[in-house]
Amino acid sequence: MRLSQFHLRTTKETPSDAELISHRLMLRTGMIRKLASGLYTWSPLGLRVLRKVEAVVREEMNRAGAVELLMPTIQPRDLWEETGRWQKFGGQLLKLKDRKEQEFCYAPTAEEVITDFARQELVSYKQLPVNFYQVQTKFRDEIRPRFGVMRAREFLMKDAYSFHLSDEDLEREYRNMHAAYSRIFTRLGLQFRAVLADSGAIGGDASQEFHVLADSGEDAIAFSTASDYAANVEAAQAVEPAPRAAASQTMKKVATPVQKTCEDVAALLDIPLAHTVKSIAVVGNEGFVLVLVRGDHALNEIKLRKVSGLAEHRMASEAEIEEHLGCVPGFLGPLQPRRPIRVIADREVAAMADFVVGANEAGFHLTGVNWGRDLPEPDEVADIRNVVAGDKARDGGEIRLARGIEVGHIFQLGRKYAQAMDATVLDENGKSATLAMGCYGIGVSRIVAAAIEQNHDDNGIVWPLPMAPWQVAVCVINPKNDASVNDAAVALLEQLQQAGWDAVLDDRGLRPGAMFADIELLGIPHRVVVSERGLAAGTYEYRSRSGSESENLDHAALMARLQ
Ligand code: ATP
Ligand code: MG
Ligand code: MG
Ligand code: MG
Repeated sequence: MRLSQFHLRTTKETPSDAELISHRLMLRTGMIRKLASGLYTWSPLGLRVLRKVEAVVREEMNRAGAVELLMPTIQPRDLWEETGRWQKFGGQLLKLKDRKEQEFCYAPTAEEVITDFARQELVSYKQLPVNFYQVQTKFRDEIRPRFGVMRAREFLMKDAYSFHLSDEDLEREYRNMHAAYSRIFTRLGLQFRAVLADSGAIGGDASQEFHVLADSGEDAIAFSTASDYAANVEAAQAVEPAPRAAASQTMKKVATPVQKTCEDVAALLDIPLAHTVKSIAVVGNEGFVLVLVRGDHALNEIKLRKVSGLAEHRMASEAEIEEHLGCVPGFLGPLQPRRPIRVIADREVAAMADFVVGANEAGFHLTGVNWGRDLPEPDEVADIRNVVAGDKARDGGEIRLARGIEVGHIFQLGRKYAQAMDATVLDENGKSATLAMGCYGIGVSRIVAAAIEQNHDDNGIVWPLPMAPWQVAVCVINPKNDASVNDAAVALLEQLQQAGWDAVLDDRGLRPGAMFADIELLGIPHRVVVSERGLAAGTYEYRSRSGSESENLDHAALMARLQ
């Protein structure tokens, strides 16, 4: 590969809305270009990295015994009606109609389609267990797409679905996938942690998320110093409710979130659905529940409903709500928080709302997953620490907090989907048995951004070797002026490639300073400079992206140094 024949366009400036370092660096290197909100083109450079991640994911899925297939991204409404998710999935589901007025959605996930495939393909227990996976584009109409490909609307996901006769076998495969995920993130060179999670809207019994640890992560995770216990903060709180005294004034445990459809809630609260309700989430089933309703006149239609079992309610003014919440006057007005927002509610529930504020008799709780929650404020982690500290781990250890980026999620779904869609096989006795199912997702495109969050310095990206667009850059000084230098560089490139290196020749003819700055920005792990002076001395100048010193090495020493 020669950069003179490639398309590379690096820039110094980034748009002001690029807040995260990964977003800025992906734009500065030209890895991605924005088409529209949450939609990105992967440039030839970005695609090289994406494909490397994909290859590791694919290799480890295959090694773990999963089998690849490819499902459409457009899915018929009928299937989603069978599981009730056409309504329940909420605003993230992009719905489409064809010329015959038949309805479809763009896949945000594929439980329905794979279960439909399974109920046709799987007839006997002898075909089990089986784990199908694909690497395929997904679309979720995220309320607040941001941070580039980190929270995009269209993104690349590896999604796998396993089918079993018994719960024990499902548990075995779940552990198998856990191990495969651990290998994937280890191979990619990422610092990560598997944490217990709520299974949320996807449902099911057991669930764990894999988080890449990064201070800029959207999720808070809690872990114990005394054992392997680790959970995302929602799951930690669900298991170990904080005693009141230990919780901070503004943040206490929310009652178990309940999920209702817009229609349910509108009927219960007597809100004219068509006019006002865009989407609603209800947090807590006792005490106060604030339902903030966004409709055509979004900013005015903020209503407080005091509900007990969702039966009783009253209206309140914005000022009253603000007083209850203990926030500065005007807080609710512009829909932009002037202070940190805490994520307490089930995030899948919260994800269904435009915005949600939940409360119970013990205090008020803000959830801001979908609005106004920017980078974590310094005191936010401290507040979460207060709450989780009241959870004390059962193992007697200290609870520590970290921030993470969710890059993978594994679920034991049980028989929820197979039951709804009547997916059965004949068991050993010739009797019909409903399939048990697991599902396992990895955010392939999100991993690229998450890796940059963990691996960068002032000069740009510092790729872990397995993800780098190229492993070695051979930089030629003045290739056009000096054919012999160019020939020597091409020869070295070929030798490196023969030795198995993914190497690129920088023969663009840039001045050394600009060329080196680009190669550093791009995060290429190894740089070798071929110059007239070096050739005269029989050496190449070698520098590692993570090291600070250059070394002059002869050919043998260079090849040895690269091992
Ligand atoms: P999040 O909590 O970040 O919204 P999720 O829990 O909704 O993610 P899953 O349904 O578990 O996502 O999907 C599997 C994986 O897909 C996630 O672990 C994540 O890595 C990735 N993913 C989900 N939503 C997005 C998105 N909007 N952009 C990029 N990757 C995403
Ligand atoms: Mg989500
Ligand atoms: Mg999640
Ligand atoms: Mg998830």
